[in-house]
Amino acid sequence: MEPAKSPLPPLPKGESIPAFVTNPDWTHRSRAAVWHPCTQMKQHDVGDLPLIAIARGQGAWLYDFAGRRYLDAISSWWVNLFGHANRRINAAIKDQLDRLEHVILAGFTHAPVVELSERLAALTGNTLGHCFYASDGSSAVEIALKMSFHTWRNQGQPDKNRFLCLADSYHGETLGTLSVGDVALYKDAYAPLLRPAKTVPSPDARQAQPGETAADVARRAAAGLESHLAEHHESIAALIVEPLVQGAGGMVMYDPEYLRRARLLCDRYGIHLICDEIMVGFGRTGTLFAHEQAAIRPDFLCLSKGLTGGYLPLSVVLTTDSVYATFYDDAVMRGFLHSHSYTGNPLACRAALATLDIFAEDAVLERNRPFAERFTALLEPLANHPQARHFRHTGMIWAVDIGTADPDFRLRFYREALQREVLLRPLGTTIYFMPPYILNDDEAALLAERAVEALKAALA
Ligand SMILES: *Cc1c(COP(=O)(O)O)cnc(C)c1O
Repeated sequence: MEPAKSPLPPLPKGESIPAFVTNPDWTHRSRAAVWHPCTQMKQHDVGDLPLIAIARGQGAWLYDFAGRRYLDAISSWWVNLFGHANRRINAAIKDQLDRLEHVILAGFTHAPVVELSERLAALTGNTLGHCFYASDGSSAVEIALKMSFHTWRNQGQPDKNRFLCLADSYHGETLGTLSVGDVALYKDAYAPLLRPAKTVPSPDARQAQPGETAADVARRAAAGLESHLAEHHESIAALIVEPLVQGAGGMVMYDPEYLRRARLLCDRYGIHLICDEIMVGFGRTGTLFAHEQAAIRPDFLCLSKGLTGGYLPLSVVLTTDSVYATFYDDAVMRGFLHSHSYTGNPLACRAALATLDIFAEDAVLERNRPFAERFTALLEPLANHPQARHFRHTGMIWAVDIGTADPDFRLRFYREALQREVLLRPLGTTIYFMPPYILNDDEAALLAERAVEALKAALA
């Protein structure tokens, strides 16, 4: 790592630097005691994978203990919307902390969870009026899968117990969610443990032949879905999709026409549609929810990540009155007997309410639109790099594939970007940008410029 490029900005008035800031040893101790996620730990010890201890965050920036800074261009794994140490979200959590930190949500309720449920339902035009909570995205997907199956079972159709997913889909890493995923890197080792879903073609717009539009590709993929449903619909409970952008599968983008057709086909063949908007929800694709761009509603909507502005683990599955009604009965066993310890945590719900307040008060979606145009223009040098392929953009997500056979490209680029004060973490050979919504034009320009420099260095 290069020496510090910029000094640690001064702390807000009245705050002193905590004693541990001077401890140089966090990464060493972390490697011994913390098993880091999605990581081959040996790469930290003998490989070239840096481990960076972060002392604090402010806005779009992360600061390490040595005084270096990093622009968080992937929103800390796609969760952060309005920056680190956001004043309004901080205040909401602090206020809640002195009232009620947590309470069991079975047999009890509290104001933040009621308000959040009402507001989320209203944001779906009250078509999805029942909110079931968990703590992370994978759990939300598990809940949607179980609810879908259980709905059919309650309706006397227990044979509808298979699921359909798209090629390249990602829905989490628990066993149930790996079963409806199609990313070999995460899935293959656990194949003997899974009950795999059937995979239907992805509407990936990169598949367009000369003269074809993204909508043409979407229609072709929908035809593949239809032929599968025509044959197998009796055994299928639900189709699960990531609307408009398939994230971990490589930032695959597609036309809303696919969602329109999928909705029609699900209705025609008696299949639920599960929209996993864990990544794309809360404005990432330009609308609050991605499925809005197809003017459809799912039967189940999974949300997490941006739900709390990137502050606290919280996820939710929203569903319809008609699904809810199939569970509502004198028989306990027809109920949805699923729970997690921290279901509906009040602190997390307050963070989510503060996040929704910011959307409402700051006209965030309207402001993101011109920003996205400016940032797309700033990325032109990257898009035009001779090894860049399929530069693409949806809302506040940008991606480009790099034509290289270097198996170490991902790590090389990651390191070169970090040395230039930018946190970018390619998926294989796909570089993507998913910045928080508070980036200013100077930060956007710096990000675009350093990304090209990092690319040139990584390919050199
Ligand atoms: C991140 C993600 C998940 C899993 O969420 P976790 O909180 O990591 O369990 C599921 N689906 C999609 C589309 C995601 O991006």
